[in-house]
Amino acid sequence: MKNMIRLGISTCLLGENVRYDGGHKRDRFVTDTLGHFVEFVPVCPERECGLGVPRESMHLEGSPDSPRLVTSRTKIDHTERMVNWARKRVKELEGEGLCGFVFKSNSPSSGMERVRIYNEKGIPEKKGVGMFARIFMEHFPLLPVEEDGRLHDVRLRENFIERIFALMRWRELLGDKQSRGKLVAFHTQHKLLLLSHSPKHYRTMGKLVADAKNMPPGQLYSRYQVLLMEALKLQTTVKKNVNVLQHMMGYFKRQLSTDEKQELLEVIDQYRQGYTPLVVPITLIKHYVRKYDQPYLKEQVYLTPHPVELKLRNHA
Ligand code: SF4
Repeated sequence: MKNMIRLGISTCLLGENVRYDGGHKRDRFVTDTLGHFVEFVPVCPERECGLGVPRESMHLEGSPDSPRLVTSRTKIDHTERMVNWARKRVKELEGEGLCGFVFKSNSPSSGMERVRIYNEKGIPEKKGVGMFARIFMEHFPLLPVEEDGRLHDVRLRENFIERIFALMRWRELLGDKQSRGKLVAFHTQHKLLLLSHSPKHYRTMGKLVADAKNMPPGQLYSRYQVLLMEALKLQTTVKKNVNVLQHMMGYFKRQLSTDEKQELLEVIDQYRQGYTPLVVPITLIKHYVRKYDQPYLKEQVYLTPHPVELKLRNHA
């Protein structure tokens, strides 16, 4: 049985009543859709560091580089308590096999970016990072992270989910035993996915894999993983996808009839013009891959990088 993706999450997004006012911030996409495909590892920094529920609300103060976490009315400074707890918690999370984290936006503890921080004049600026979120991201610089609000943007959602699934496959394929053969197999399957995100990384990673024998395995894997995560973080665009679709079409040069070629070109062009979503040309290509049993394309993760039920390629 395949392992489930484990995803860290701000506890209140799951609907648990852990907020300062005793409420929650349940996110329906997270619980009702994403929840079918991942196993959540909930983290509520404010409750877990011992501040209780309900509690006084708090905010960030000072400079964005070294903010303080202070209660809004009584001005109690919880910075040290939170930092000490967060440093221990991220060490514990090392053993959870997380493939990413979904943070609660705007929170002085859990917000990933643009959190309100009050300067010495008491004026808020959206330049802060939640105290736990910052320590988490510094500790796990390669892990995909997102916020609840940003996940409602279809492109950011697709990008985040593509990354967590890629990271899961990377871990599964390598397993405990590292081998150059496994890395080459992984790379081959992910070539077109990489090309759809970053032609530059596609070339660099191709060279790295071709030169695999000249590098100690440990160094090779860590370099590859950095490039993989960097590449997938760059968003796909219509132009990059069209390039990949045309590239795939080249594999059927001999098999497709003139009429089939024309139809595929038309469908790709409709996608390029924004009339149809990516799922349309992909479905047609998948049909040809199956019909003509194209061995290279049949292995390409690009054709199904995440479960179709998530409908991530259905927007035009
Ligand atoms: S935003 Fe973070 S600290 Fe606040 S309730 Fe949610 S999980 Fe807890």
